[in-house]
Amino acid sequence: MRKYIFVVGGVISGVGKGITTSSIGKILQSHGYRVTAMKIDPYVNIDAGTMNPTEHGEVFVLNDGDETDQDMGNYERFLGIPLTRDNYMTTGRVYLSVIEKERALAYKGKCVQVVPHIPYEVIDRINRAADHAKADIVVIEVGGTVGEYENILFLETARMLKIRNPDDVLFAIVSYLPTPSTVGEMKTKPTQHAVRALNSTGIQPDFIIARSNIALDEKRKEKLALFCNILPENVISAPDVDSVYDVPGNFEKDKLGEKILKRLKLKSRGKDKSWNEWEGFVRKVHRAKDTVRIAVVGKYFDTGDFMFADSYISVIEAIKYSAYAQGKRAELVWLSAAQFEGVKPPLSELATFDGILVPGGFGTRGIEGILNVIRYAREHKIPYFGICYGMQLAVVEYARNVLGLKDATSREIDPKSSNLVIDIMESQKEVLKNGKYGGSMRLGTCPAVLKKGTIARTAYGVDNIDERHRHRFEVNPAYIERIEKAGLVFSGTSPDGALMEIAELSKKDHPFFLGTQFHPEFKANPLNPHPIFSAFIKVVGAQKKTQE
Ligand code: GLN
Repeated sequence: MRKYIFVVGGVISGVGKGITTSSIGKILQSHGYRVTAMKIDPYVNIDAGTMNPTEHGEVFVLNDGDETDQDMGNYERFLGIPLTRDNYMTTGRVYLSVIEKERALAYKGKCVQVVPHIPYEVIDRINRAADHAKADIVVIEVGGTVGEYENILFLETARMLKIRNPDDVLFAIVSYLPTPSTVGEMKTKPTQHAVRALNSTGIQPDFIIARSNIALDEKRKEKLALFCNILPENVISAPDVDSVYDVPGNFEKDKLGEKILKRLKLKSRGKDKSWNEWEGFVRKVHRAKDTVRIAVVGKYFDTGDFMFADSYISVIEAIKYSAYAQGKRAELVWLSAAQFEGVKPPLSELATFDGILVPGGFGTRGIEGILNVIRYAREHKIPYFGICYGMQLAVVEYARNVLGLKDATSREIDPKSSNLVIDIMESQKEVLKNGKYGGSMRLGTCPAVLKKGTIARTAYGVDNIDERHRHRFEVNPAYIERIEKAGLVFSGTSPDGALMEIAELSKKDHPFFLGTQFHPEFKANPLNPHPIFSAFIKVVGAQKKTQE
């Protein structure tokens, strides 16, 4: 019998629903069950690919090329399994398929209604994802918070699913308990209201995951239990933690796994070795001491008066995994690309860092700043790692300042330039002409072949790799020979040799200057740090020693 766990949010967003979903999945997996995780995004967008990262966070790309919510990255990292487009849905996606079915007469003359046809479609999609993953248990995160208009149909879906299968459907609400500084006491009222809002949709939560800055005391546990119709032992205290990777262990201290299994009428099959591996990783996180400082130079940080690192969450995690594996703690400093533009950019500030990373990006804002940063890293031999745009711009910088092509650029930046060293991919020309931007980049896993004797080949230890992509532009084939003659090596290419996938400087020219056209961060995993990130961190750490 298949089991369904719905994770919903209360009071405010951003308190860790995604981490809760991932952690519940991880725990049940370690109890011997096959688990998959899904995200329901209430947006009308078909996917996250058309949303600005400062609005919605990182766009996480799956093997099959689906452009999804960053929580999908958390699920993959915690569960250690690749997900597919079946695991992600938006309001837009659900409506689109219902409308397409209606046009194809699939409803056989019936009046197609918001209820029940939209919930039926959602249930079909949940089952499809579970079938695909052969999952015993599917953990479904409903985006947004209860009481919002946007996710009401998804809650209705969950309610309908439970009517027929009361023992197989479970609800957990992740809710926030504030401690206002003027009061000095943790308040349960907003969560009581959130549970009431959930009740009004016909749903009674089985568990309250109580998020707060400190642990919940007995008094508040009992209060929540009493007013929310829940057993006190099913109110789980979830205080802020140093590392999100502590969360599964903390839940298990409260025996959340066994409680969930009992409620679903399942038995633990005994903790398997995946739990030991996980705990081993968590120990490494806590043990890591020696700090390396890395500047991340990008453009999707500023939102109003705040800095927002979520746009690059997978990059951040990937750096950390490689650092932990080497007993190091990575201190990441966000630098806005725009500050390095103008007549006297403060480039010498960069000398204080052990390494510099430029992640992916789009458009023209901040680009000259990034080019200045890359030049500084290259000339001052600071380890440099460029991802996607960060690789393309390294090629542009090299063409300008080493090859002497002063107006070298990418078509994305200045289509009128006479030296487009980065140009639109052949396959993308039609797309741009027709304005069909959504889901149409070069997306998802593509193979690449590595050149012997290069940094990339040494790091991976194999000749053939598969990595995930998300881009429209490429290194212009007309310039490859000249660029290579000037010393930049294309150490990874598509198997037919047409697309340049990795660019690097040889070790004799620079300790580490490497860019990837793909996004290695999407495949980095706590238990399997990514080889390129690890190679970067290794050099970053070694450089630091020589500075001390
Ligand atoms: N803007 C570049 C392109 O479309 C790079 C994309 C990226 O960094 N993800 O090719």
